[in-house]
Amino acid sequence: MTISHILGFPRVGAKRELKFAQERYWRKEIAEQDLQDLAKALREKNWKHQAAANVDYVAVGDFTFYDHILDLQVATGAIPARFGFDSQNLTLDQYFQLARGNKEQFAIEMTKWFDTNYHYLVPEFQKNTQFKANPAHYVNQIREAKALGLNVKPVIVGPLTFLWLGKEKGEAFNRFELLNRLVPVYTEILNALVAEGAEWIQIDEPALALDLPSEWVEAYKAVYAELAKVNAKLLLATYFGSVAEHAELLKGLPVDGLHLDLIRAPEQLSAFEDYSKVLSAGVIEGRNIWRANLNSVLDRLDPLKAKLGERLWIAPSCSLLHTPFDLEVEVQLKAKNPALYSWLAFTLQKVEELNVLKQALTNGRDAVKAALADSQAAADARANSKEIHRLEVAERLANLPADADKRQSPFAERIAKQNAWLNLPLLPTTNIGSFPQTTEIRHARASFKKGDLSLEDYETAMKKEIEYVVRRQEALDLDVLVHGEAERNDMVEYFGELLDGFAFTKFGWVQSYGSRCVKPPVIYGDVVRPEPMTVRWSQYAQSLTQKVMKGMLTGPVTILQWSFVRNDIPRSTVCKQIGVALSDEVLDLEKAGIKVIQIDEPAIREGLPLKRADWDAYLQWAGEAFRLSYMGVADDTQIHTHMCYSEFNDILPAIAGLDADVITIETSRSDMELLTAFGDFKYPNDIGPGVYDIHSPRVPTEEEIERLLRKALNVVPKERLWVNPDCGLKTRGWPETIAQLEVMMKVTKKLRAELA
Ligand code: GLN
Ligand code: ZN
Repeated sequence: MTISHILGFPRVGAKRELKFAQERYWRKEIAEQDLQDLAKALREKNWKHQAAANVDYVAVGDFTFYDHILDLQVATGAIPARFGFDSQNLTLDQYFQLARGNKEQFAIEMTKWFDTNYHYLVPEFQKNTQFKANPAHYVNQIREAKALGLNVKPVIVGPLTFLWLGKEKGEAFNRFELLNRLVPVYTEILNALVAEGAEWIQIDEPALALDLPSEWVEAYKAVYAELAKVNAKLLLATYFGSVAEHAELLKGLPVDGLHLDLIRAPEQLSAFEDYSKVLSAGVIEGRNIWRANLNSVLDRLDPLKAKLGERLWIAPSCSLLHTPFDLEVEVQLKAKNPALYSWLAFTLQKVEELNVLKQALTNGRDAVKAALADSQAAADARANSKEIHRLEVAERLANLPADADKRQSPFAERIAKQNAWLNLPLLPTTNIGSFPQTTEIRHARASFKKGDLSLEDYETAMKKEIEYVVRRQEALDLDVLVHGEAERNDMVEYFGELLDGFAFTKFGWVQSYGSRCVKPPVIYGDVVRPEPMTVRWSQYAQSLTQKVMKGMLTGPVTILQWSFVRNDIPRSTVCKQIGVALSDEVLDLEKAGIKVIQIDEPAIREGLPLKRADWDAYLQWAGEAFRLSYMGVADDTQIHTHMCYSEFNDILPAIAGLDADVITIETSRSDMELLTAFGDFKYPNDIGPGVYDIHSPRVPTEEEIERLLRKALNVVPKERLWVNPDCGLKTRGWPETIAQLEVMMKVTKKLRAELA
C-alpha cells in the first residue's frame, strides 16, 4: 500500500462561491451565519473530493476566510497590537478588519507568497510581542472532518517560516529573538490537535527553500527537537525549491516524515534516498495546469518504492491552492482545442492522477492500464504536436544574430537623434498608458465579446473614447500622449488573445489574495504574432493630434510572469519567443510612424528566483527577452519601459541593462526614496519618477508634487528627467484624474520656467 495525501486544497470553491459570499457579507447582504454555513459546505465538498480520490489523509486547517498566515497570527496571538483586538476572542468582523483595515487602522500589509501569485498578510512582530495559543481554527476543522468520518491530517505553517515571513515593527530588534517565546505556543497548539486525535500533523517549512541565514537554519534542530515531543507524528513539508543543501540537517531532525517538491527540484531526490523515515514525494505539479505523464512519474517512483516500501508517500508538489478547480467545466476550451484540453489537469484532475499513481504503486500498473494509456497518449500527442512546436519559431530564435538584442548606437547618440525630432520641453510630461475605464467602456467591450455589439459599433465606441482621451491630454497640455488603452481589459490577456500559442479558460481562477482571484492565460505553444495587434489604435490616436503619440505594449517578462507557462520547454525560451513576437509589433508601429513605444515590465522583479545564486541567470535571459522585443528599431525611435513599485536597489544593473531610453517608475509612495537608488547607481538613461499616487482619488497639492520633483532633480540631471503619474489611471474616475494631472502640469511648468 502506498499512502497518498494532499498538502492543501483551493479554498474559494469551484465557482468562487466563497468570494461571492464574502463580498456579500462585507456589503451586509448576508449574515455571518450564512457565510459560516457556506464555508462549512465548501469544506465538506473539498474533503469529499479528496476522499473520493482515495487519499489517505485529507488536508485540514488549510481552509481560510482570508489567508492562512493571518489564521496563524490569530492562532499564535501575534495579531498587530495596533488594532486593540483580543486574539483569544476575535470575531469574524475583527478578523476581516485585520485583513482589510478599518477607520482607524490600515490593513495588515500583503506580499507575495514566495514566488507564487498568491499574497499573504505579513505578520507584524514587535520586540515585546507576547504569543498566546488559540488553536480553535484548526480544532474546529478537525472536528468537522472527523464528523464526516474522514482521516485527517491538520496542516500548519511551521514556526521558523512563520517568523521569517514576518516583519519587525516599532523598536529595533531581530525577530529571530522571538523564537524561544513562539515555540512553546506552537507546542500548545499541536497538543490541542493531538487531543482531537490527529495522528499525523503536517508542518510546512517552505522557508527552507530560501537563502536562510545560518542561525535560522541551525535553529531547526532545537525547534523540532522541542516540537517532536508532542504525541503525534510530524510531517515536515518543504516546497517551491530544493532543500538538498540542508539534507544532513533534515535527515537528523526528530520528525517522522519529510515532504519534497520533486516538480520544482527533482534533482534533490538523490540527496534523500537514504532517508530512514517517511518520504513524501511531491510528484504532481501543484502550481501549474499540465497533466502529468504518469508512466514517467512511475518510472521514477518504482525504484523509490523498492527502496522505501511503505515509507514512500505520494502527494502533489505543494498545496493545490495555486491551481484552478476543475477542468471539466471548460466546455468551450474542449470544443475549440480538444488536444490542449487533453493536456491539462486542474485540481480535481490532479487528485485523480494521484489516485492512479497510488493504485499503480499498490497493485501494479496493470490495475490502471487504461488510465496510464490515456495519460501516455496525451503526453505523446503533446510532444509531437505541430501546433505547439513550430519549426519557424525555433529557427528564428536559433538564427538571431549575436547582437540582435543590442541597439545600433549607445544611448548618448540615440537620445540626440530622438530629441532632434521630438522637440520636447525640459521635464517632458507623459502618462503610463491607461485612462479611466468607465462603465460604458467596460460595457462596450463585454457586449462585443458576447457578440451583442457589432465590430463596427465596437470600433466606433473605442474610437470615440480614444478621441476623448486625446482631447483631454491636449487640453492639459501634456507632451507625449497615450491613447488610453480602452480596448484592453487586462494588459496581459489583451496580447495573449492576439498571439498564437495562448489559450484562455472560462473558470480557471486562482486565489490572488482574500476574495480576489485571477485567471491567467495559458501559454501552451510556440508564440507567433499573426498580425498587428495595436497598430490600428495607435495610428488612429496619432491621426487626431499634432503631438507625439506613444505606442503601448506589455513586455515579454510580464506576459510570462502572469500566465500559466508551458512546462515542456524552458521558461527562458518561452520568454524570448514572446520578445521576438513583440518585436514584429514594435517594427510595425515604427513603420506606421509611432516612434515612441513603451514596453511595460511591471513584473520583472517578481520573476526573481527564490535563491540569490539563481538571480543572474534569470536576469540575463529576462533582460535579453526584453531587449529582443525592440530589436531592429532605428536610433531615433524612443523605447520607454515602465515598472511598478518594488525594490529595485539590488537589480539596478539589470534594469540599466534593459537599455530603454526612458524608464518610468512608481516612486511617489516611497517619497522618491526609490529614485535615490537610481541616483546613487548613476542610472544612465532618462527617468520618469511617478509624482503622485494613482491608487487614491485624492488630488495632490502643488506643494507635494513640487517637493517630490525637487527631490528628483537632486538625483537626476534636469535634461534626463520626465514627469508622470506613478502608474496607469484605469482604476480612477475622470474628475479626479483631470484635477490630478492639472496639478502635475502646473508644477512642471513652474519648474521649467525656473530651470530655463
Ligand atoms: N500601461 C499600463 C497601464 O497604464 C501599465 C500598468 C502597470 O504598470 N501595471 O495601465
Ligand atoms: Zn505600473
